[in-house]
Amino acid sequence: MAEAVQRVTLEHGQDVTSDPRLDRIVEGIVSIAAGNLTARIPISPTRDQIDAVSTGINLLAAELDDVYQDMEHRVESRTLELREAHRQMERMALSDPLTGLGNRIALMQQVELSLEDMAGGAAAPGVLMIDLDGFKEINDSFGHRAGDLVLQEVASRMLASVPEGSLVARLGGDEFAVLLPAVGRPSAHGVAEAIQASLGVRILVEELDVWPRASIGAHVAQAGQSAEDLLLYADTAMYVAKEEGPGLIRSFEPVMLYARQLRREMVSELRNAVDRDEFRLAYQPVVDLVTGRMQGVEVLLRWEHPTQGLTMPDAFIPMAEESGAILRIGRWVLRSALEQLAAWRAEGRSQEGFHVRVNVSPSELQNMDLVDYVRAALRDTGAAPQDLVLEITESAFVGGGDVETYSMRSLKALGVRLEIDDFGTGYSSISYLRRLPVDTVKVDRALIADISRDEGQLQFVDAVHRLIQAAGMEAVFEGIETRNQAGLLRRMGCSSGQGYFFSRPLTADQVGTLLASGSRLPLATELLA
Ligand code: C2E
Ligand code: MG
Ligand code: MG
Repeated sequence: MAEAVQRVTLEHGQDVTSDPRLDRIVEGIVSIAAGNLTARIPISPTRDQIDAVSTGINLLAAELDDVYQDMEHRVESRTLELREAHRQMERMALSDPLTGLGNRIALMQQVELSLEDMAGGAAAPGVLMIDLDGFKEINDSFGHRAGDLVLQEVASRMLASVPEGSLVARLGGDEFAVLLPAVGRPSAHGVAEAIQASLGVRILVEELDVWPRASIGAHVAQAGQSAEDLLLYADTAMYVAKEEGPGLIRSFEPVMLYARQLRREMVSELRNAVDRDEFRLAYQPVVDLVTGRMQGVEVLLRWEHPTQGLTMPDAFIPMAEESGAILRIGRWVLRSALEQLAAWRAEGRSQEGFHVRVNVSPSELQNMDLVDYVRAALRDTGAAPQDLVLEITESAFVGGGDVETYSMRSLKALGVRLEIDDFGTGYSSISYLRRLPVDTVKVDRALIADISRDEGQLQFVDAVHRLIQAAGMEAVFEGIETRNQAGLLRRMGCSSGQGYFFSRPLTADQVGTLLASGSRLPLATELLA
């Protein structure tokens, strides 16, 4: 651009020569001020004061540009960091930290998306609900670390067994789910089978062999079903599979919902049964195999269901345990049994050493209040601690959890006697039992069922009996149904037994009459004769 020198008359009448570089300085400043930090004012060869000012402004602009770029860079990297953190939080909110699988929220989201796709014409999605069988035992017997390793291994096997595009989620504990975005019913079953097969291979956990198994419920969506329906139906089918035995696969059928509803009703009825006075107690004599006399009775719960009539414990105790109703029921049983003992005493019918045996369920043993409750019940009924034997199923303490051990030691300190029930059905060894404050071991009836026919089994029972004695405990044999079994056990040196051969469970009155007649059980006396 040609440099025209203009003459400008200033206010004071002085003439100055207007330098075009001044215009460029102004232009430059305007541009820089507008944010164009890379704008530079040209420097003329004159290198006079005006150029010095221009150079100064350029330097300032350059510096500003640096600062700005640095800021921009920082903001950018901070934004990236935040975005990554956000993504991670999202991932965490949607995933299970132990296995890295999706969680329930992720599953629900994906199920909803698949249902939308289905409404748009895609094939129906299917859901598998998977619950490991016997996982609690793995956790209890091998520890939580081993349990975690098993869950991780199971997770990766499931991932490897499902078709691409499926979502595997862990819903908590040992419960998993798989979303198959578009399947037919047979292929949902096929995937369930593939998962079962993958679990069928043993897992080596810290030198322990674990064979995981799972119960699987499957359901393929039908038009109009919501995500909740889909999960509920698959879950219902899983429940049925679980009830029918370990390692099974069941597809949802509407009738299953009805069964589930009945179950739910039963749980609520169970919760009310104590208040409605629907429980009764039966008493089965435990017999001294040497003298033939009744040593005590095992207290067995019966439920007079308002519509279904007399209901046996196997039909409702598991549900009472699962639902937590057992805590209240167990307290009722204990107190009623001790009150009955006091009543027999008051009638002058009880004899020295006569005791009641009360079954205590695993969840009661896990309850910190059990000991206080037993202490209060003994005090209120005036029963002596040694009049009470608590029967604890073997499986209840296999894990030897802290609370269980605490409960057992505290009960022992009260003077109550402890017995391991159904011995031989769980995993515990005699050497393990020795470490527990246990007085007696009740050998499960399955062990003696065949002793009359099977010489090997008889020898096995003999060995078990010796082991129990060697460990300083006493053995009681339950389920003695025949004279032959009673005779064999007696010859083996067993001192206590219980079973239909001697007596079926009796009413309180019948026990009172027996006590009054010197506790002699006719068949036992006959056996001794
Ligand atoms: P359990 O403690 O092993 O009780 C023995 C069960 O075997 C009783 O069944 C009894 O009637 C039955 N039995 C007795 N003699 C014989 C025999 O010679 N042959 C055969 N086949 N069976 C015999 P029941 O009364 O049906 O009780 C079943 C289980 O329910 C009990 O097994 C116990 O685990 C549980 N249970 C019963 N009452 C209570 C309770 O008050 N609380 C808790 N937590 N569980 C209870
Ligand atoms: Mg028992
Ligand atoms: Mg038993």
